[in-house]
Amino acid sequence: DARATLIDGKAFAAGLVERIAEASARLEQTHGVRPGLAVVIVGEDPASQIYVRNKGETTARAGMRSDTHRLADTTTQADLLALIASLNADPGIHGILVQLPLPAHIDAAAVLAAIDPDKDVDGFHVVNAGRLAVGLPGLVPCTPLGSIMLLRQTLGDLSGLNAVIVGRSNIVGKPMAQLLLAENCTVTVAHSRSRDLPALCRSADILVAAVGRPEMIRGDWIKPGATVIDVGINRVPSADPVKAAEGRTRIVGDVALAEAAAVAGAITPVPGGVGPMTIACLLANTYSAACRAAGVESEP
Ligand code: NDP
Repeated sequence: DARATLIDGKAFAAGLVERIAEASARLEQTHGVRPGLAVVIVGEDPASQIYVRNKGETTARAGMRSDTHRLADTTTQADLLALIASLNADPGIHGILVQLPLPAHIDAAAVLAAIDPDKDVDGFHVVNAGRLAVGLPGLVPCTPLGSIMLLRQTLGDLSGLNAVIVGRSNIVGKPMAQLLLAENCTVTVAHSRSRDLPALCRSADILVAAVGRPEMIRGDWIKPGATVIDVGINRVPSADPVKAAEGRTRIVGDVALAEAAAVAGAITPVPGGVGPMTIACLLANTYSAACRAAGVESEP
């Protein structure tokens, strides 16, 4: 009985990747600059390996240069910092991404701080967080950027809407709040200490869930007709008890999709909503960093 529009992030992301590929090809033709992304992974974390492979493949498919640096989990912080310094200095590399989490013996904050902010395509450097906060141009974290694109495509002008974000992480919740504020929303950021979360959520015209708790947000937390962006990616046992007993899993969001879809006006499914937008925005950031390096205006 779902009546909400399902926001097709997969299709939107595919279109975006295509447009970036075309714009990159033009940048190379007109300015001799081929956008290049370097992805650095330390250790063997299986989920990280999959993310890094997807990033590399999508970048290459878009016609960009894609370098993946795979380092042993025994790599020292000094060696990692030396690699970042060489990538900072490499004019063929416009974007640098260090896949998180890093092994415990490496100070992740020190590593992120070492990336040239103008090559920081994840947008995690404090300089980029500061630029976003004061409204200067900079590189914006990919997941919030992709979420804003889906909201603008779904709703058009966001001015004056009440936006509630559940989650205040530096990589999703906080930058999402800045972006929605820049779109003239009235923004509330909720977290684990917030009181009466269901009532707060029910005040939202735009509800962004970035919690990391499977299906925590229920249908009756949602204002009828609201637009719901579900950022959560949670692995849970398969719904089929036989498969679950075999250890099979599935991915769900932070929102109970079927319940929410009966109330919301539009909602991003998981999978197929925000997830695909994240990689597409990584390419968008790499392309815009290359334009900046070449001294040209990036195409919209
Ligand atoms: P974090 O764990 O860093 O942050 C979670 C936030 O949710 C915290 O601010 C925490 O509050 C809040 N929170 C936790 N439990 C509750 C609760 N019971 N009630 C209210 N708030 C709560 O997660 P991330 O921001 O990194 O990621 C959030 C989700 O998004 C995860 O599922 C992650 O996998 C997914 N994700 C998806 C991406 C994509 O590409 N689609 C990219 C990045 C993340 P407090 O600060 O008080 O602890």
